Amino acid sequence: RQDALAELIDRECVTRDGTPVPLLANVGCKADIDQLLALNGAGVGLLRTELMLLNAEQLPDEEEQYKAYLDCLLQLDGKPFTVRTMDIGADKVVAALKLPKEPNPALGLRGIRYSYTHPDLFRSQLRALLRVANHGPVRLMFPMINQVEELDWVLTELESCRQLLLQNEQGYGEIALGIVVETPAAALNLESMLPELDFISIGTNDLTQYTMAADRMQPEITRAFPTLSPPLLRLIKHCIDAAHQYGLPVSMCGELAGNPQATALLLGLGLDEFSLSPSGLLEVKAKVLETDMEAAGLIAEKALKCRRLDELKACIAPVNSTSD
Ligand code: PEP
Ligand code: MG
Repeated sequence: RQDALAELIDRECVTRDGTPVPLLANVGCKADIDQLLALNGAGVGLLRTELMLLNAEQLPDEEEQYKAYLDCLLQLDGKPFTVRTMDIGADKVVAALKLPKEPNPALGLRGIRYSYTHPDLFRSQLRALLRVANHGPVRLMFPMINQVEELDWVLTELESCRQLLLQNEQGYGEIALGIVVETPAAALNLESMLPELDFISIGTNDLTQYTMAADRMQPEITRAFPTLSPPLLRLIKHCIDAAHQYGLPVSMCGELAGNPQATALLLGLGLDEFSLSPSGLLEVKAKVLETDMEAAGLIAEKALKCRRLDELKACIAPVNSTSD
């Protein structure tokens, strides 16, 4: 099986009827980028920047961040480089920070909310990335944005970082802007935010957690955490359709993007791009290569009508039987 998959490395990633499907990788460090390049992935779809500081004794300053991100960008040699600003809090605990003890960390100070209350760290990251964008294409996305007011704040911060760089006679480049859609509020508020954005990426790990009100860190409640459920499917469909109405591409960076059982369904829903763990790239590529877009559209149509988990499972199962 591994040998058969290895043969796919140099194949172009297109569906059976020729639709190109970019498969990017979720990465946390340089070794992950080495792996994605070795497997001929299309680029980085999610750099989890907080992972770079999980074990750090102190927080990196702007210069250190600039060097680290520039290294990644140069390593990618022109392939897309999608960076998520630090998603600190809840399941992502950074040792160098004294995070407050909260009764419900997943509902507390995390993602963009943490950045909002600790703007200096956020600003140093924005400045570093604006400078890196001078050397190649950077896509920047923000975690846990629920509403347009949070996006307004981010855009104001970005603009003042640009002004500061200008004052200091440091160059900066254009950056494509996106949000990680990972709460039902973000999905249902998308129309207010899309005019300000260049892309969106659906974070199904948190989107599932917040849709089902089920803690992703608690294995004992996995029954309440199905990988795919009718409400999650409807939210995904809503995000894709809304973004497409604004002519924006939609990526997915949650675990669902790396689940080969969901590949045809996601293509049928209109997903433009997948971002997954590098180790799963070839499995998903195998699925893309055998998918026919018309059949995928029918699977999506049928799946959207399912009302129960077992119906939904059965609905995507025939796709898998061809190669399993
Ligand atoms: C997600 O929530 O789906 C996601 C990609 O981000 P993380 O798993 O890092 O929270
Ligand atoms: Mg998330």
